[in-house]
Amino acid sequence: MSVLEPLDGLGPWQQFLCRACGLIYDEGEGDPDSGLPPGTRFTDIPEDWSCPICGVTKADFEPYVRRAKAAPMPVSVAPQRRPGVVIVGGGVGGWSVAEAIRAEDARLPITLVSACDGARYHKPELSVALGRGLSPEVLRRETGATAAARLGLRLMAETVAVGLSPERHSLRTTRGTLSYTHLVLAHGARPALPASLDPALCWRVNDLAAWSSLHAELARGARTVAVIGAGMVGCELAEDLAGAGHAVTLVGAEALPLPELLPEQAGRRLLAGLEGLGIGYRGNSLVRGLSRRPDGTVALALADGTSLAAATVIAATGLATPSRLVRSAGLAFERGIVVDSASLRTSGPDIFALGDCVSIDGRPCRFIEPVARQAATIAATILGRDHPGYAHAAPVIRLKTRSAPIVLHGTPVAGAPWHVVEDSEHRLAMEQRQGGDVTAWLAA
Ligand SMILES: Cc1cc2nc3c(=O)[nH]c(=O)nc-3n(C[C@H](O)[C@H](O)[C@H](O)COP(=O)(O)OP(=O)(O)OC[C@H]3O[C@@H](n4cnc5c(N)ncnc54)[C@H](O)[C@@H]3O)c2cc1C
Repeated sequence: MSVLEPLDGLGPWQQFLCRACGLIYDEGEGDPDSGLPPGTRFTDIPEDWSCPICGVTKADFEPYVRRAKAAPMPVSVAPQRRPGVVIVGGGVGGWSVAEAIRAEDARLPITLVSACDGARYHKPELSVALGRGLSPEVLRRETGATAAARLGLRLMAETVAVGLSPERHSLRTTRGTLSYTHLVLAHGARPALPASLDPALCWRVNDLAAWSSLHAELARGARTVAVIGAGMVGCELAEDLAGAGHAVTLVGAEALPLPELLPEQAGRRLLAGLEGLGIGYRGNSLVRGLSRRPDGTVALALADGTSLAAATVIAATGLATPSRLVRSAGLAFERGIVVDSASLRTSGPDIFALGDCVSIDGRPCRFIEPVARQAATIAATILGRDHPGYAHAAPVIRLKTRSAPIVLHGTPVAGAPWHVVEDSEHRLAMEQRQGGDVTAWLAA
């Protein structure tokens, strides 16, 4: 929140939302990292400025109004007797539903149950924050308690949902059982760690708490770091770590990074960008095991019989949605909580789901952009308001690697051929076609 008062006679500071990644540009705060001092009006931002998180331009931002038609109720810290909406998850999904309900209704009781402390932060920043010198305090935009007070809801932080009875409309948590009229599941996904990687010997970066601990370890000085997994998060973290002065090896299962998403030409550009920063790439390498060496470093045993050592090991090996809560309640699950693609209803009565934990038509979609639209749909249904429904579309994927930024549109089909549209020193453009139509395209 800005401490500057607007003195330019143009009214209060405005906020603008990046449609691609969800970043909110606040005129009062500016973006000093990218050269915009506090108090920079959006209209005064140069046209070639790009979103500090995902790299899109000003044209991809829209005015953001934190709608507060209804004055929120005072926070109740005592248990609410009247069942209302119970939200599971204090990430962007859970808080977005709470915001969307409160924008229309000040009084509906809302309880938000979160395994973490419920602090609000912008998760995509976790893979670019080290190189920019950002601290956990800077990344934390609002504490859970402040957000709960602002929205007039009850926050049950550090509380885990452990059981669900759809018939009784009740949710069992580690701090007691809650009744609900509507339940919203927004509990995200967890790092999927292969059995060969000892969790005690490698970090996973999927929340602010884990990133903060990693940040504390890395703040002690330059280290050798191995990043296992050359997907989006692995590549971004490798670049970020190198930018922060660490000696990074990126270990990928294939010859090039991001093989399931990128054609060979784009993968080569990405690799060249990363190697240009001094990152060593160990391609075609599967890690068979991790072990602690006498000098305190960790040895990575590779399937080809070789090994490498690093002071810090980070596993970026993908995510999986935990299934026990919903499966034990008899809800449909297929790589994520199955939801109806228009209403986001699960197979359980009055139970909705959104964000990283859902699967739509059998596919998870773990990106920020759809979350606000999903939350608006769920809030409207709960409040009985007319709503056109959620329309799912593949979000634009932007790789936040500044050494080789890549933007991917549409739905690439693995194994289908890519056609080169332009391949020059400065730009690569390619597209995939199905039945004569362009179904995916990228620019690198
Ligand atoms: C490093 C990184 C970089 C990323 N970069 C981008 C990007 O550039 N662009 C983009 O679009 N997306 C990006 N993403 C993905 C994006 O951040 C996620 O899609 C989004 O944050 C998911 O939000 P969510 O609320 O669904 O889940 P989460 O943020 O995971 O929140 C889940 C919440 O549920 C709580 N919880 C879990 N289990 C329970 C339980 N049993 N009971 C109670 N509470 C529970 C957790 O504590 C947490 O509060 C990135 C992700 C990472 C990790």
